[in-house]
Amino acid sequence: MATPLHSSPSAPEENRSDFLEEGPHAPTGERRVNRAGPDDARGRASRLAVAVRGLFGRDGRESGEEAAPAGDSGRVLYARIGEFLFDNALEPTPLHYELAHSYFDGSNRKLVDAVERALERGDMTAETVELIMAECRTDMTAERLSSLVDEAQAGLKTIAGVVRQSGADAMAYGEALETSAAVLEDTALEPHQSLAALLDLTRSMIEKTREAENELRLTGKRMSALRTNLAEARRVAQSDVLTGLANRRAFEDRLKRAVNQARETHRPLALAFCDIDHFKTINDTHGHEVGDRILRYVARQLAAASGNNCFVARHGGEEFVMLFENVTVEEAFDIVEACRADLASRRLIARKSGDPIGQVTFSAGVAGLTGEESGREMLRHADGALYRAKSEGRDRVLIAQR
Ligand code: GH3
Ligand code: MG
Ligand code: MG
Repeated sequence: MATPLHSSPSAPEENRSDFLEEGPHAPTGERRVNRAGPDDARGRASRLAVAVRGLFGRDGRESGEEAAPAGDSGRVLYARIGEFLFDNALEPTPLHYELAHSYFDGSNRKLVDAVERALERGDMTAETVELIMAECRTDMTAERLSSLVDEAQAGLKTIAGVVRQSGADAMAYGEALETSAAVLEDTALEPHQSLAALLDLTRSMIEKTREAENELRLTGKRMSALRTNLAEARRVAQSDVLTGLANRRAFEDRLKRAVNQARETHRPLALAFCDIDHFKTINDTHGHEVGDRILRYVARQLAAASGNNCFVARHGGEEFVMLFENVTVEEAFDIVEACRADLASRRLIARKSGDPIGQVTFSAGVAGLTGEESGREMLRHADGALYRAKSEGRDRVLIAQR
């Protein structure tokens, strides 16, 4: 490996696992390495393959190895996930756990293949996990959404059927009652005979009502599970897969609500439009993969620095927006300017290759909500200020001129 790579103790915790770190001149800290080196990768991959086969009961047990007792599979799975994380020096985070679980679960072929390829390469790092999960989650989301739509359609069909049937039954019951009443009047049956006829009719109606109730109760349960799943799908649909930030759609929803609230409460509202400088050159020089990691790095820096009253989203490409609620335009400027200065003071290197990337900067335009303007207009003003920041030399934050 080329240049020694260091984590800055001052860097946000979550950025320590990023490929991108501050250069050799930056304060040093502990270096994270895989305990098992690439030489072990092949052995590890084959051990894991045995583990997977063992778990699914296929013939893959090494001679002398005990079969797991029936009912103990949860404990075995737990131990294997632990071993997997430990062997690959992966922290026990939910994402790492999810990957290991899906890997041993084996239901997602694409994920299993990607993990095995990474193990063969000896590259089962936190970054690789993020990439694999991002890739596989997109697929799962599309599949999941389509199955949710199917479930919703089936549920609605059942409800419509029950309602139609109940309506028809009620009408038939009413008609039967009318007919019985007419017959009773005409023929003057014995009271106990007419009572028995009415009871029969009523019993059959009660039976039908019970059936309808049962069906509605079951469908109700299914629909409530569906509501939970749809809420999760909505959350996924509103987040950006690459950076984990909110996406543009979520930002637009939030902006509309924030503008309404700011008007009602007479509180200030500001937003910043940020754009990484010369990002195309970064991609062209270091490759798209490094470009992606820079996007994640910058996303985390903005999210970490922005505080509670700020909603950060990826607007698209290398553009981010920050919405500051109950914050004046001057205060928002100070926060964004501090972010800009902090990022510009760092020198990044690619952890994997050791290649220096150097300084990464962004420019930003900040605008506050004024008069009767809409959120969209405020965004346009911030974009105008960003344009000026670019044309005045980049790596700067400007407030929109009114
Ligand atoms: P400027 O300083 O004027 O903003 O220049 P720029 O190079 O940053 O802007 P330009 O619009 O010319 O290029 C933006 C580049 O961002 C082009 C596009 O390929 C790249 N890009 C957009 N989305 C992604 C992404 O998700 N990943 C990577 N790696 N690159 C992306
Ligand atoms: Mg741009
Ligand atoms: Mg740019």
